Amino acid sequence: MPRIYNPEMECMDRESMRKLQSERLVATVKRCYETVPFYKRKMDELGVKPEDIRGVEDITKLPFTTKYDLRDEYPFGLQAVPMEKIRRIHASSGTTGKPVVATYTEADLDMWAECVARVMSVGDVGPGDVVQVSYGYGLFTGGLGAHSGAEKLGAIQLPTSAGNSKKQLMLMKDFGTTAIACTPSYALRLAEVMTEMGMSARDLKLRVGFFGAEPWTWGIRREIEKRFGIKAIDIYGLTEMCGPGVGGECEYQDGTHVWEDMFLPEIIDPDTLKPVHQGEEGELVFTSLCKEGMPMIRYRTRDLTHLIYEKCLCGRTAVRLGKILGRSDDMLIIRGVNVFPSQIETVLTEFPVFTPQYFITVDRKDNEDTFDLDVELRNEYFSPNPAKQMPYIKPLYDRIVSMVGIKPNIHILPPGTIERSSGKAKHVNDKRNLKDWK
Ligand code: ADP
Ligand code: ZN
Repeated sequence: MPRIYNPEMECMDRESMRKLQSERLVATVKRCYETVPFYKRKMDELGVKPEDIRGVEDITKLPFTTKYDLRDEYPFGLQAVPMEKIRRIHASSGTTGKPVVATYTEADLDMWAECVARVMSVGDVGPGDVVQVSYGYGLFTGGLGAHSGAEKLGAIQLPTSAGNSKKQLMLMKDFGTTAIACTPSYALRLAEVMTEMGMSARDLKLRVGFFGAEPWTWGIRREIEKRFGIKAIDIYGLTEMCGPGVGGECEYQDGTHVWEDMFLPEIIDPDTLKPVHQGEEGELVFTSLCKEGMPMIRYRTRDLTHLIYEKCLCGRTAVRLGKILGRSDDMLIIRGVNVFPSQIETVLTEFPVFTPQYFITVDRKDNEDTFDLDVELRNEYFSPNPAKQMPYIKPLYDRIVSMVGIKPNIHILPPGTIERSSGKAKHVNDKRNLKDWK
């Protein structure tokens, strides 16, 4: 059994955990009200005073915080401490408008490192382990976040950052990398380059990988585990809470344990904003319980998932997130049907003749939505002759129609044609411009 980094917190009985969360929530709310004008204003608008919050059961009295609020308060409006206390600033990629900013005190950085250390302990990472951090270093939280987790565990940090795949693999082999951290899409890319270089998993000492920052399916997991001969562990996080490490899977790979002593999760119905029944799917909302620099009250992540409360076989009591279906704003509505790219990925990876790469293009012609899906056949199966492709297209087409309910226009491309990513993969081009950014 791998070591549990902080058994007291990760395995605390539920009642004591609730008590601890309640204490921390009360303190967080009080501090936010007193030091952050934004939270005071929002609470005053709802007529809620800090004294009204006596424990976790009162959470629903509190206002939500959204990414629009973060944008309005850019850059430091939500900060609860003076600038002198801040040690680091990160920002998310923020594809539209201003980036989301996160500021960290010394204690915040330490807490974040512990979060990642808890996840990496699942892979028994420790002294002597070479942890190759192939998440991008920079404003993105992935690189430095994974780095500090490896540091906390006394492992050897190999800060390769993302990109330059051939060199990554050379170093992986020469330095005897035992653990890697990167996005799942970049892991797939590395697997391809490994084959191109005539290398195989046997040339490597790689044992475990920590993959996250984007949704990925079981199909992708199987592919990564097979190609590298490793265990692929899901690590979840978001800049608004700290970055990677808000939660992670254990060795049973059956849901992502959330570090509940630091982050209080809720699932709400994104339309009514009311809590869903226990175990139901909805939007994940987090309240930070320890953050000093930029505490967050009821932050709406837009991630869709459900919570699993049963005790896990690993011994942790920490609640688990089900696989993240995607973000609510990644959901496509095509001909009135809700479609998540992750659903297409699930179907595609059931067919071993295809590579796990795909790209969806949605457009509108003559008032009707079009849905084009680019996929690649693996080398052994590819032929430029459309007649030879037909037998592969048909089963995929049928499966998508039955699973998702809409008819795709499937295009088979030669292997290696769809653009690979060294960070978060882009799977969709919605040309309809239906998104409203408020
Ligand atoms: P950005 O918003 O620019 O992508 P972040 O790096 O903060 O910046 O992204 C956090 C988001 O990434 C999460 O809200 C979630 O949608 C996604 N994410 C992170 N880790 C995972 C994971 N393991 N599985 C699925 N989605 C993830
Ligand atoms: Zn577990």
